[in-house]
Amino acid sequence: MKSWLSSANATGCDFPVQNLPFGVFSQDGEDPRCGVAIGDRVLDLAALERDRLIETGGTSVFEADALKPFMERGPDVWERVRARLTNLLRDSGDTALQKTADRYLIPLTDVTLHLPFKVSEYTDFYAGKQHAFNVGTMFRGPENALPPNWLHIPIGYNGRASSVVVSGTDFHRPNGQLKAPDADAPTFGPSRRLDIELEMGAVVGTGNPMGTPVTVAEADRMIFGYVLLNDWSARDIQAWEYQPLGPFQGKAFCTTISPWVVTRAALEPFRTTTPEREKPLLPYLAEPTPMLYDIALEVGLTPADSNEEAVLSRTNYSSMYYSAAQQLAHHTSSGCPMRAGDLLGSGTISGDTPDSYGSLLEMSWGGKTPITLPNGETRSFLEDGDRVTLRGHAAGDGYRIGFGDCTGTVLPAIKKD
Ligand code: CA
Repeated sequence: MKSWLSSANATGCDFPVQNLPFGVFSQDGEDPRCGVAIGDRVLDLAALERDRLIETGGTSVFEADALKPFMERGPDVWERVRARLTNLLRDSGDTALQKTADRYLIPLTDVTLHLPFKVSEYTDFYAGKQHAFNVGTMFRGPENALPPNWLHIPIGYNGRASSVVVSGTDFHRPNGQLKAPDADAPTFGPSRRLDIELEMGAVVGTGNPMGTPVTVAEADRMIFGYVLLNDWSARDIQAWEYQPLGPFQGKAFCTTISPWVVTRAALEPFRTTTPEREKPLLPYLAEPTPMLYDIALEVGLTPADSNEEAVLSRTNYSSMYYSAAQQLAHHTSSGCPMRAGDLLGSGTISGDTPDSYGSLLEMSWGGKTPITLPNGETRSFLEDGDRVTLRGHAAGDGYRIGFGDCTGTVLPAIKKD
């Protein structure tokens, strides 16, 4: 399938007509509103809805500055809108329809992209086995690397929604309590072991009532789509604070997501199974059909005052041990209510080799083997001014479903006297 918009058919384009990811944009200081990316344009959904060219089953949802009203309409409306948008943007030979749709396209270079949904709550999981093994090996030795619950439970913790930001938002290096293993007492100051975590984020589109667990199949249907997610982490703050209740300030200062939510529908052709179970899962976590996706991922780092990006890592989402649907079903298993706009981090996605690891902690093995960049600088952890960009796409036959860049730059710590 091709679009009548030529930029959408270009090789390597993230946003062909098969994708149609949803986001929130503004132009010339106007209020933010909802749109869909196509080629090098954004389709103004608010204007289309106002002119009654798309129908969402009730009052306006796309004039909103976030996707929540649309997501809350549920999967049947998501599918109907996607079908209508496909009809408007594919090359069907209907030139009158093309002319109509063309009036609602705005160049991406003319708009500002905003956080696509208000993050209701953010839960971060730990579902990458290689990552869990690597980190466990560094902290506890290879024989105790995986905690005894790891092969049975999608482990997670409740993170901060308030510090989730859209790609392009820079942030300050966090301050916190630091204590070297051989120091007698902690000190307070800027983190010296600032890291990234390459993750996918699942966006919950519809919730469940409190006290009502959902099955894995129902959980899958509740997921509106996926984003790239960089779960920035301060390893020194984390190492001192994490026992016994898990991460706190070491991961509370910033989480970056990509600006476009790629829908579950667009990823449907790329479904793949989770790896073979090493221990049988309890029945409530069994997957009735493949729930993971084949999504190629990469991490790029550009030092301050440099135009040369180093690709530090390439890996694939399909290596995860638990899918987002399993994580979501597990999240509701106690009766916990989930809401539209909840964000689930997959856990760091690391492949089998250092050039496929999803964190600097692993790539530099806790700082023991620094990485050399093309300009000769080395890195164990991030320096001020470093810009990190995550990219991802699913490769189809003659097209790709891309996510757009997920970028952030490290600013110096704020000094407190
Ligand atoms: Ca994480």
